Amino acid sequence: MCISRTYPFSYMNIHEFQARELFAEFGVATQPGGVANTPTEAETVATGLNQGKLVIKAQIHAGGRGKGTFKNGFKGGVHLCDTPSEAKDLASKMLGQVLVTHQTGPEGKEVGKIFVGEAVDIARELYFAILIDRATSVPVLIASTEGGVDIETVADKTPEKILRLSINPFLGIMPYQTRLIASSLGLTGPLMNQASKLFTNLYRLFIERDCSMVEVNPLVVTTDGRLMALDAKFNFDDNALYRQPSIIAMRDITEEDPREVEASKHGLNYIGLDGNIACLVNGAGLAMATMDIIQHAGGSPANFLDVGGGATREQVASAFRIILADSRVKGILVNIFGGIMDCDVIANGIVEAAKETGLSIPLVVRLEGNNVEAGKKTLAESGLKLESGENILVAANKIVAAVKAAA
Ligand code: GDP
Ligand code: MG
Repeated sequence: MCISRTYPFSYMNIHEFQARELFAEFGVATQPGGVANTPTEAETVATGLNQGKLVIKAQIHAGGRGKGTFKNGFKGGVHLCDTPSEAKDLASKMLGQVLVTHQTGPEGKEVGKIFVGEAVDIARELYFAILIDRATSVPVLIASTEGGVDIETVADKTPEKILRLSINPFLGIMPYQTRLIASSLGLTGPLMNQASKLFTNLYRLFIERDCSMVEVNPLVVTTDGRLMALDAKFNFDDNALYRQPSIIAMRDITEEDPREVEASKHGLNYIGLDGNIACLVNGAGLAMATMDIIQHAGGSPANFLDVGGGATREQVASAFRIILADSRVKGILVNIFGGIMDCDVIANGIVEAAKETGLSIPLVVRLEGNNVEAGKKTLAESGLKLESGENILVAANKIVAAVKAAA
């Protein structure tokens, strides 16, 4: 199986309440509300809203909250209630608790903030998203009448209910396109005007903030005939973040993989995965190929890690520390092709970190290229217990076998 088609892909996420701030800035209709860090704050926010039904929502970087369950047994990360004191009570049941949804994995995510909003009466739940289609490299609009449910299930069971429309990035979203989508969603009359405005403003937000995806699920029609976004999930293109200071300011590192947070401090391109064989590689292409080869050899990679072409000994040592601190990791495969990179720099970084942390798991190293003899000598004289692989397939087979033998 080739996994490099899906990895690595690094992007920044934000919370729903932050997405709503962006909606407000770009004129995308949504309901009034605010964020709370404590039950008392939730009550205060609720008191400031129009009295009527309220919606209380756990803020985590994952969807499926409505159908999620807290580890303490409390059901649902999205609730409706009637009074500010009920809002306070619901907030106290969710804050500080770990919510597990089909998107969080079994470990779940701890809820640190709650969104409190004016609930609306829903007539219809629709789906609307904009994303970069990586096959055609243009933005594509995706819409469906089947909102409020998992879109993957819709795509799987009833693909005919999903509409896709490519946007020419030089022309932008055209009025005929917004009308086409609106009418296929059954939005006619005044709702068509609202839809055209909402889709156009959302597209402008998508482009101006360098998003790679924005998903509104559900986009709702209220019983009193308004169209609004009730939920939002954003991904931003990491490569454009340097020019998006207001988006960077929304980053919540407590929601991110701690391995990735640590790696980014050292300028390493690291993405955590679920397998148990860590890899340390120079070059993104070689790193992806290495993950594929681990998979091919019957193993499963614990990460994508590209130390870059000009990594220092300190960076290599940091990379090794991050790998060794990960309890999932049961073996390490180093695959270095020294072009710009000096193999001896890598070897010294490995020795430094392994000695400091006390390497107790199998390590297989494949070094090739610039100054390879010195690198091999450094490793051989280090006293570290490691194996070398003369080529990457041999090395991958060795690490997979060693991990299986140790298990
Ligand atoms: P998700 O489960 O993480 O996707 O969270 P959502 O924000 O999408 O909320 C889940 C579901 O809760 C929605 O699909 C709606 O059915 C419901 N919901 C959310 N907000 C409201 C609201 O203001 N009024 C009503 N009646 N239902 C809501
Ligand atoms: Mg949703």
